[in-house]
Amino acid sequence: MAEHLIAGSKYTPEDGLTGAQLVTSGSGLTYNDFILLPGFINFTTDEVDLSSPLTKHISLKTPFVSSPMDTVTEANMAIAMALMGGIGILHHNCPPEFQASQARSVKKYKQGFIVDPVVLSPNKTVSDVYRIKQERGFCGIPVTDTGDVNGKLLGLIAARDIDLIGKDRSVTPVEEVMTPRRDLVIAHHGCSLDEANHILQESKKGKLPIVNENDELVALIARTDLKKSRDFPLASKDDLNRLRVGAAVSTHEEDKTRIEVLVAQDVDVVVLDSSQGNSIYEMEMIHYIKKAYPELQVIGGNVVTAAQAKNLIDCGVDALRVGMGSGSICITQEVTAVGRPQGTAVYKVAEYARRFGVPVIADGGIQNVGHIVKALALGGSTVMMGSLLAGTNESPGEFFFQDGVRLKKYRGMGSLPAMEQKGSMARYFSDTDKLKVAQGVSGSVVDKGSVYGFIPYLYAGVQHGCQDIGARSLTQLRQMMYGGELKFERRSPSAQVEGGVHGLHSYEKRYY
Ligand code: 5GP
Repeated sequence: MAEHLIAGSKYTPEDGLTGAQLVTSGSGLTYNDFILLPGFINFTTDEVDLSSPLTKHISLKTPFVSSPMDTVTEANMAIAMALMGGIGILHHNCPPEFQASQARSVKKYKQGFIVDPVVLSPNKTVSDVYRIKQERGFCGIPVTDTGDVNGKLLGLIAARDIDLIGKDRSVTPVEEVMTPRRDLVIAHHGCSLDEANHILQESKKGKLPIVNENDELVALIARTDLKKSRDFPLASKDDLNRLRVGAAVSTHEEDKTRIEVLVAQDVDVVVLDSSQGNSIYEMEMIHYIKKAYPELQVIGGNVVTAAQAKNLIDCGVDALRVGMGSGSICITQEVTAVGRPQGTAVYKVAEYARRFGVPVIADGGIQNVGHIVKALALGGSTVMMGSLLAGTNESPGEFFFQDGVRLKKYRGMGSLPAMEQKGSMARYFSDTDKLKVAQGVSGSVVDKGSVYGFIPYLYAGVQHGCQDIGARSLTQLRQMMYGGELKFERRSPSAQVEGGVHGLHSYEKRYY
């Protein structure tokens, strides 16, 4: 009888490589160099739980982190990331006060409540209202004595107040035409979104100012936002029910004041932003933060070897950011000849760091949802993305057209334009450097729409990957990998071509 029949069902087929076998034999690997082999499915995709630790003490329901880059993460991105269960790390290519104000916007965010509305002072003119309408697309604007939020509410100016004003717009002050405070419907600070919604419905108004006990403006609610408002069951929140946010800082001495103003805004985590994190400067900064702010979670990096990781873990980091030279805008490996292929880096650092309960963020080189699955399968707890999130509505900067394509700027923080910016941070050079050597480039990416549509696509894609592998959760995925049950295979260059679309005359690639 043939051997395979004798063995029957007792025969356990050996196939593929374990994570350790994949990574320890031969040259360094990155995501495209290998593929995951399928496992057994006995659950649906929506049962797959993607919760994963960001740091020792913070867990996310969505393992996605937006990169601290000035073309990726300011308050809008951080709010969107946190609402969808991930987290945004605010960049520090700006003065500390600006970064702190961004952190404040995230922390103060309440769904439906606009906490930094456009406000006018009473002596502004109707022309100013038209200008705002043209630039921002709305004109229900509160008027306060200071012209700022927190000023005493004096009135509100809306489209119907200025419709009939003709030629003397530039001399007519808003206080002459606004609806005065005594005729306004308002709500009091502390009211719930449901209560505010009810007041808006009853009043049939477009905007509802929220005031405190001194009649000072604290927020605004817009009817149009309420219509759009939806649930975010995965949202990342702190103990006080505020959205979580992270902020990047440098390892330079002067950033101790930056950390102080960020801590004053209750940021949840700081990321020590250094392209080569294994330095005396970073180690001293970790010691300093851990002593000065014992509650603050600290992410160290970047590292790509276990030896680098060891130093930072010994200093007490709460997570590690892994990647050197793998970012899409990055030329570090070309310039310095130092770095590591990202797949190998993630595996090696995660495999070491897990012994100390230190989670790893796979940072850079994520080009598609499959790369996220691979980064997580190699031991990454979360992934950090730059290019994939740049070019969305929520990333900083304006869209522009080039050759008929709608684009947004995306640049490396080690590119010359980023490093030359006033108030720039110092990730890639030190104060003593006489000549700035670029480690990144500046370019553009195609419009990707809103992250509110894109992140759910990435989330569902990772759930599909886990289902094919046979992992009901990311915890199980890591267990399967370290237990040798999860199998990998290297891909030859022609197998990589086969794994993409090929042999078509033309096609349209739509993702969701
Ligand atoms: P991406 O997701 O675009 O592939 O990579 C983003 C990551 O690239 C960032 O999180 C950061 O670690 C890294 N990065 C950002 N700017 C630069 C740069 O100018 N040079 C290098 N070497 N890496 C960068």
